[in-house]
Amino acid sequence: MMSPEEREKLKKVINEEIESLQSNITALEEITKPIPPDNAIGRLTRMDAIHMKSINEAGLRNAKQKLSKLELAIRQADNPDFGYCVVCDEPIPLKRLMLMPESTMCVQCREKEDGK
Ligand SMILES: [Zn+2]
Repeated sequence: MMSPEEREKLKKVINEEIESLQSNITALEEITKPIPPDNAIGRLTRMDAIHMKSINEAGLRNAKQKLSKLELAIRQADNPDFGYCVVCDEPIPLKRLMLMPESTMCVQCREKEDGK
């Protein structure tokens, strides 16, 4: 069972992570804007730019996915069920929640799920 202090600490961690993700997303959105045509920047530079853009777009997608999971976590953080594994109902260790607050499963269940 999480103590109120632990819960507050965890919420702080989640909020900080949400803030840093939001600024990441803003930066990534800025650099994944459409690339100017060949004649403006040269063909090789443009190919590099396209390559970088696809990497940054993948990063942007991941960041957005993580952000929505964290937003869900912060909305549920005051819920008494928060911090319990959705599969086996055992408490998720606080250490794990601090590192990955978006976790909804304990390590054992997560591994079983991944191994499927
Ligand atoms: Zn579990």
